[in-house]
This record gives sequence, structure tokens and C-alpha cells, in this order.
Amino acid sequence: MRLYEYEAKKIFSQSGIPITQGMVVSSPDDAKSFAKKMGKPVVLKSQILSGGRGKAGGIKFADNPKEAEKVSQELLSLKIKGYQVEKVLVDEKLDIEKEFYIGITLDRLNYKIVVIACSEGGVEIEEVARTDPEKIKRISLDIDETLFNFQSQGLAKELGIEGSGIRAVAELIHALWRLYKKYDAKLAEINPLVLTKDGKYLAADARISLDDDALFRHPELKEMGIEKRHEEGEMTPREQKAREMGIPYLDLDGDIGMFPGGAGFGIMGNDFIHYYGGKPANFMDSGGGPTPERLAQMLTLLDENPQVKAIFGARFGGISRCDDFAKGVVMFLKEHGLSKPMVLRMTGNMWKQGLEIFDRAKKENPELFKNIEIHGIETPIEEIAKRAVELAKGV
Ligand code: GDP
Ligand code: MN
Repeated sequence: MRLYEYEAKKIFSQSGIPITQGMVVSSPDDAKSFAKKMGKPVVLKSQILSGGRGKAGGIKFADNPKEAEKVSQELLSLKIKGYQVEKVLVDEKLDIEKEFYIGITLDRLNYKIVVIACSEGGVEIEEVARTDPEKIKRISLDIDETLFNFQSQGLAKELGIEGSGIRAVAELIHALWRLYKKYDAKLAEINPLVLTKDGKYLAADARISLDDDALFRHPELKEMGIEKRHEEGEMTPREQKAREMGIPYLDLDGDIGMFPGGAGFGIMGNDFIHYYGGKPANFMDSGGGPTPERLAQMLTLLDENPQVKAIFGARFGGISRCDDFAKGVVMFLKEHGLSKPMVLRMTGNMWKQGLEIFDRAKKENPELFKNIEIHGIETPIEEIAKRAVELAKGV
């Protein structure tokens, strides 16, 4: 999980890394009053879960509170790299003498923690790695190995830092390494680390990515207002699970579980559900011929989703036959059971035989079918969609 700059700076500050003075705001009014309180020029920084904001026009300066108000208004209406800017960090503007890069990450090839430093900061480190690889300095450490003072001081010296700066930067590197380990980070990065004209070293930018699987070990993050969130472009656990089973699946934000017979049927069903005022909880395709195992997997995904209130099933038998489909569903009901109400329609290849299989199973064990309504070709698909919307509403 990637943190916003203002969140990462909170952690930096608590970990002993000097940061710029600032406040995160979500309205131009607040930007104005904070700039006024600062009483000096500020930098306004769009808070998005992506770097390269400078180049993309997401970092702007303001000399006075009025300008801070106007500029923050502009930033708050921007979409940068697909992210709507919802918060702006108002920071003291630094007089920059020089920018450096410090980062810590995992070297997956060698199973090491690697501390990376570079005298060219502010620019993308990947770019430096391409053009001037010799400028990138590194220390590799085993996961349980200590970073010694002489090592971080050596790194500071390699950046061309002299005098009292060596100690300041070495301490800063050490603090970054401590927080990297303490929070189970995958990446902790300061780019740029700024040397100001009056000789101070400060983290002007902050980036931390945490290991999602270790988040449970850090309840303190919640206390700091940092919550687990679903990131754009990242799969939900259910999508991940579906992917492992080879089922094309997307989580949506509604409450009707969509159990379609193919992607086309899924899209059409989605339209119908919306038409009748409902909202699908997912999109799903069966991912090839749905074997009984596959059908069971599909239904389990829906049944175990706490957001799902009712299931809409629409099967069109083409090459795959409705009787096979019915057998698969019955098998699932016997082995797993369905805790959600479902309305199901079957048409196409062998639909009558499919219905007979359901009828027989229902006679044998009515309990299994108590929340399930099954229809054939005589009921139009619109009716089924409408019924699913009712079921989700508890009608
Ligand atoms: P990024 O582009 O998303 O990595 O955002 P940064 O926070 O790293 O800002 C990009 C660049 O803006 C930095 O490398 C600096 O050159 C510049 N910048 C950021 N903050 C300040 C500041 O306080 N004063 C000055 N003069 N420049 C700044
Ligand atoms: Mn940066």
C-alpha cells in the first residue's frame, strides 16, 4: 500500500527525519488561512498516489495567502495521471541549494535490503540509473543486519557532503532505515532530500510503500489516520482469488451477484439490473466451458461476498448444455448450499432437461431450494432482472 506524501511525512517526522513544515488541506479556504499563518511563500503539492507530480503540473508555488487560495483551487480541480486531486499539502517553500536522493528498498534478486543514495535528487532515479549509473551509491544489508554509523556516514561522503552535513545526513539515513524495518516497508524514499541555502537537510518529498501482508502488525497506523485502502489498478482479494481460478471477474459496488452464462450475458444482465434500479456487485464471465467445479467456484465467489444480497443467474445454453449446467448447480447446492436468494433462468441448448434436473433435485431435497426461484424460456429475461432487484431489496 502506497502512502500519500503527507502520511509518509507524518511517519518521517515521528521517526526523526526532519521534514518541511506544512499542513494538508482539502479546500482553498484552508490553504489560504494556513499560508497566512506561515507568513511566508509556500509550495502547494497535489496529494496523489503517484510521483512525477512536479513534471505533471501538480506542484505549484504561492507568494501570499491570496495566491495560495487561487492555486489550491486550481490544483483541487485537476486530475493528474488518472487521480483526482482531493487534498493539497501546503508546505513552507524551501530555498534550495542542492537536491539529493535517498531510498531504501528490497533487492529481491539477492534477498537484501538496499540503501540507495545519489547526488542527483529531484529527478527520477530510474533516469539517473540509465544515464549515469556510477552516480548511484548503495549499501546492501541482510534483513537482520545492522546499518552502522560508519556505513551511513560513508554514504553521505560519497554524495559529496562535507563537514557537519555528513553527520546530519547519516542520521537521516539511519532513521529512514529504522522506519523501513519498523513499518515493514517495501520502499521508503526521500526525493529530493534538500540542502537549503541556510545549510539544513530536510525531506522535501516522502514516499513510503508498505507490505500489505504485514499491515495487521501495525495498528498504530490506524491511530495516525492511515487506513488500508483499495488502490486504483490493484485487484481486490476476491478479484485475486477469481484470477487464480481462471475466472474473469470484477468487483463492482452494488449488491446483486451476477451469475451469467458468458460475458455477453453478463453485460446485458448488467444493463437490465440498472434499468430496474438495481446495482450489480460484480461482473463475471465463466472463463470457458463451465465444468461443475467452475460453476461451484463462481457461485462460491458470490455467496461468500458479504455485499451480495441476491443472485441473478441467467444461463444461455450454447455449446455448453443447460442440463450440464443444472447438474453443476445441484452439486454445488448439495455440497456447499446457498445462503443468498437466487433467481435463475435457463434457455437454449437442453434447457428443458435442465429444468427437469432441478425439479427432481428439489423433490428429493426441498430445503436446498428454499431461496431459489428457477425459470425457463417462458419468463422473459426482464422479469428475472426485475425479480433480482426485488430480492436484493428483501421483497
Ligand atoms: P514529485 O515530482 O511528485 O516527486 O514531487 P516533489 O515533492 O519531489 O517535487 C518536485 C520538485 O519540486 C522537487 O524536486 C523540487 O525541485 C521542487 N520543489 C518541491 N518543494 C519545493 C520547495 O519547497 N521549494 C522549491 N524551490 N522547490 C520545491
Ligand atoms: Mn519527488
